[in-house]
Amino acid sequence: MERSGASLYGDPCGGCGFEWSVTPGEAIRVVEELPTRFRALLAGRTGFERHPGLSWTPAAYVSHVTDNLRNWAERLAGARLSGAVDVPGYDPDLVARARHYNEIAPTAALWSLEHAVDARAASVTSALEEGTVLQHATRGVQRAEDVARNNAHDGHHHAWDIERILRHTTPV
Ligand SMILES: [Zn+2]
Repeated sequence: MERSGASLYGDPCGGCGFEWSVTPGEAIRVVEELPTRFRALLAGRTGFERHPGLSWTPAAYVSHVTDNLRNWAERLAGARLSGAVDVPGYDPDLVARARHYNEIAPTAALWSLEHAVDARAASVTSALEEGTVLQHATRGVQRAEDVARNNAHDGHHHAWDIERILRHTTPV
């Protein structure tokens, strides 16, 4: 079984400090605040900055978080609307290459994120109310609240990545 969540990243996460004990409601709020948070981080920056240890730009991380939210919102919707609870893994790096994340205009990436957050909030809220449970091919049982926390961590973790990139590129 593939490790995920607290067993993969540590509790709190060894990188971004995310605490996995957050309630589903708190996890939803973390995601709802992401567009404002990312917009503030990118204010006055190009969004195309680079860090030698990271392969993506700040704007690329925004696109990754967006696609991750869309993917999981769609999966929860599939389980809820049609009983499709069995879901496969997916390769975020392959998605990044196919969509050329590093070349997407940062303002467009932020625009997409806002729509993804709205759609995802509706999907996760409904899934939590209905007790939706996914059966993930490599992670096993993923309850709606697990998805809520994983999505919140993904956003929080990549905000931390963006901060690292921007700190690296800030003249001191
Ligand atoms: Zn983290």
